[in-house]
Amino acid sequence: MSDASPLFDDNAVYRTLLESTKAIPWKLDWATMKFAYIGPQIEALLGWSAESWVSVEDWAMRMHPEDREYVVNFCVTQSQAGVDHEADYRALTKDNGYVWIRDVVHVVRNDKGEPEALIGFMFDITERKKTEEKLLNLQKELEALSFKDGLTNIANRRRFDSSFELEWERAHNERQPLSILLFDVDFFKQYNDLYGHTQGDKCLVDIAQTLSLALDGPRDLVARYGGEEFVALLPGADSEMAQKVAERCQRLLHKKSVLHALSPHGRRVTVSIGAGTVTPDGRADRAGFIKAADQQLYLAKNNGRNRTEHVQL
Ligand code: GH3
Ligand code: MG
Ligand code: MG
Repeated sequence: MSDASPLFDDNAVYRTLLESTKAIPWKLDWATMKFAYIGPQIEALLGWSAESWVSVEDWAMRMHPEDREYVVNFCVTQSQAGVDHEADYRALTKDNGYVWIRDVVHVVRNDKGEPEALIGFMFDITERKKTEEKLLNLQKELEALSFKDGLTNIANRRRFDSSFELEWERAHNERQPLSILLFDVDFFKQYNDLYGHTQGDKCLVDIAQTLSLALDGPRDLVARYGGEEFVALLPGADSEMAQKVAERCQRLLHKKSVLHALSPHGRRVTVSIGAGTVTPDGRADRAGFIKAADQQLYLAKNNGRNRTEHVQL
């Protein structure tokens, strides 16, 4: 557009253009730090009339306290350096709410390159921020879901693997014992055959809940390890503690008394447990430890089920 354009001569057209956009135009005089202009649309957005925006102070004070220091410092630094910039912040409304604003700022400089004025546009980005927040929450939810077993709602194998790795390191560094319990439901194929797969699923949910109740250490974790197998991670637990927790699991499950007409153990659903305790040193490895506990589980099955076998490595 050349200076010859009639638009440039027509202040009224300019004004109409500026004051009918959704973006709110403004101009701040650098020497006095006073607003030379702010679009009247500001009143519709924030409730403060255009006349009430006198100086940069009004702008700073009508900003969320958490955003103020950072945004003001950022804008001052950029302006002093003569750099165009933009900032997002929450602007205070007259009725004490907040509106997310994106302020896009152009620095007008004199011949010497010093800032003379700032001109900019404020955009209402509240909706965009809401969407961003929603996306962030969804992401968090998804992350949580990826560590949860869909049927029983307890931790899944992936979660166990990652916690186990961390706790192993920690136990190693702190020279603390660590125990795990591997559970396998007894005669579960028969249970499914007798009551159906859906009832079988429900039984697994009951077991998961019962096992969760039996743990009480702050970093204890119970997870679904596979189909009808569960695992408990007991950081800091020595062999005595591990066996105590195993007993508590079996006692609570007995109390829960889930009918299994074909089970020889009181016509109830029971579990066998392979338990292991280790204080990890340079030699012990995680996979070997799980394998040792699994061998104990196998022993428990062979020794009649509904019992715990334990190994200390
Ligand atoms: P044992 O006492 O030796 O453990 O006998 P079992 O019948 O429990 O052992 P096995 O491992 O041979 O059978 C496990 C059964 O668990 C087979 C499978 O159909 C069932 N199962 C595995 N996952 C699920 C599940 O998610 N839901 C249901 N309903 N059944 C499952
Ligand atoms: Mg099994
Ligand atoms: Mg089984």
